Amino acid sequence: MTTAAARGPEPGVVDPDPVASAPGAPVRGAGPARPAGLAALLPYLRAHRGTLAVVGALSLAGAGASLAQPLLTRAVLDGLTTDRPVTGLVSVLVALVVLGAALGGLRDYLLQRTAEGVVLGTRRRLAAHLLRLPVAEYDRRRTGDLLSRVGADTTLLRAVVTSGLFETVTGAVMVVGAATAMALLDPVLFGVTLLGVAAGVGFAVTVARRVRRLSRAAQERVGEMTSAVERSISGARTIRAARAEHREAAVVSASAESAYAAGLRVARVQAVVGPVSAVTIQGAFLLVLGLGGARVAAGAISVGDLVAFVMFLFFLVLPLGQAVHAYTQLQTGLGALQRIEEVLDVPVEGADDRATGPAAALPPAGRPARIEFDRVGFGYPGGPPVLHEVSFTVPAGTRTALVGPSGAGKSTLLALVERFYEVTAGAVRLDGVDLRDLPREALRARLGYVEQEAPVLAGTLRENLLIGAPEATDAALLTALDQVNLGHLVERTADGLDVQVGEGGVLLSGGERQRLAIARALLAGPPVLLLDEPTSNLDARNEAALRRAIDAVAVRRTLVIVAHRLATVVDADQIVVLDGGRVVAVGSHHELTATSPLYRELAAHQLLVS
Ligand code: ATP
Repeated sequence: MTTAAARGPEPGVVDPDPVASAPGAPVRGAGPARPAGLAALLPYLRAHRGTLAVVGALSLAGAGASLAQPLLTRAVLDGLTTDRPVTGLVSVLVALVVLGAALGGLRDYLLQRTAEGVVLGTRRRLAAHLLRLPVAEYDRRRTGDLLSRVGADTTLLRAVVTSGLFETVTGAVMVVGAATAMALLDPVLFGVTLLGVAAGVGFAVTVARRVRRLSRAAQERVGEMTSAVERSISGARTIRAARAEHREAAVVSASAESAYAAGLRVARVQAVVGPVSAVTIQGAFLLVLGLGGARVAAGAISVGDLVAFVMFLFFLVLPLGQAVHAYTQLQTGLGALQRIEEVLDVPVEGADDRATGPAAALPPAGRPARIEFDRVGFGYPGGPPVLHEVSFTVPAGTRTALVGPSGAGKSTLLALVERFYEVTAGAVRLDGVDLRDLPREALRARLGYVEQEAPVLAGTLRENLLIGAPEATDAALLTALDQVNLGHLVERTADGLDVQVGEGGVLLSGGERQRLAIARALLAGPPVLLLDEPTSNLDARNEAALRRAIDAVAVRRTLVIVAHRLATVVDADQIVVLDGGRVVAVGSHHELTATSPLYRELAAHQLLVS
């Protein structure tokens, strides 16, 4: 499957993150999550630097228009007191007010657009990355938590760009402009004001710094809650049957409560920041009015100067208040960014590939291939060894059955052929080529794989069939369904091939699910098929249908089948008996019945008789 990010942007669509989606973009190394600082935001903004420059220019123009207003007001007031005509000045003042508002509107729109672009780019990049993680990562992580990173965490980035980053920057422009003008108007009054404002802002910023850590913790709780909901919904039948709804609801509720508590901790910090800013602002105004009034009375400044100073004070404290609020927003977003970066830092599958593309040796597609296990050893990451010195060969175009007690390592062998995991010792070879020397895409194009459980995805029958063969015609789909005895599914409703199969294929029976997966493998027509037979007991009709389906796919293919049914085993060209991760016997049914006590026992008791 090709992801949108891997393909690059569609024609006419601006790629919101061309840097990250460019071919050959460096793969990040694994490591502990770096604390996301402001610098971590830069790569996300780089693609939008043109728009951001326009936004910056608009803000400067807007700030200029705003900062000119007090000076014009002073001129109007001074003109009125000295009887000079002020009509021209008033017109300019009105024009500046309107212009300032219009520029502000345009700037806000461009900013929102950039913010949405950053969210879009991050979602694409994160989703593309998530789909390419090594299989062991999915074993280790909770689905709900990953979902919440793509959904909730990326949403928080929007606020970072709009209110956070931007208000901080525009606020700073206004503050510097207003402060300069105030210092020029009356240095004494400005000095006193500055002391009060600086004390308030310093306190607020110190407190706001705590927000990042707290809000990351809050997002983590949201991730836990999503995981709990996901588990309850995906296991709905088991939970209902076990009458565990209330206990599961209590688990969800407990995670929701800790998300609430974490949210409250953030709110408490923000609640301190708000009043501190308000008191600072009001205090500054009272101070300026009191002291400024005294200075007007003493003749040190004019009334016009004082009014202009008070107006500048507005331009100083309002953005300052906003900037303090924006700073807390920024910290919240940086907390979310840290969670996003933590996933992006996990190297994608194949980042350590020895094979580097077309030059790699490839057995020709379209003809059955030979598979060789050569002294293979393997253990799941962090777990005990599961396979030891496994050696056997599956000749091209033959059928090999893997049998053994539960947990012997049969499914693991199939996973190693697919290279979902890497062998820790020995090698697996396809037509003599070590799998590690084959690009994964090319390897998997030659393999069909039918999982043991839930091999069906949510969606329609058609979508399920087209996964491996997107170009197949309707006629080919119907033929494949007939071959596995599933023709009736299409006739059941007026929807035909567009009938929904439900989450994980729940609207189908276990046998139907397995056969649908086999039909999918048939359509793709791979030279090698890996089939993990269902362990569940099927009724006689389903059983016969499954056997016919397997016979249909076995033609002109190399078939490796984890077998749970005697009928499947008896038909195999070769049977490999596994126990405790070791090969204990290889041979035909007749040979093994004569030579292998474990096989005899399995055949008598554990292999399902059909
Ligand atoms: P069954 O017939 O019951 O399907 P199997 O022979 O196919 O069993 P495997 O599924 O290959 O057995 O499992 C072999 C061992 O590896 C078991 O001990 C199992 O607990 C362990 N195992 C399987 N999958 C994983 C995984 N994703 N992560 C860690 N350990 C695993």
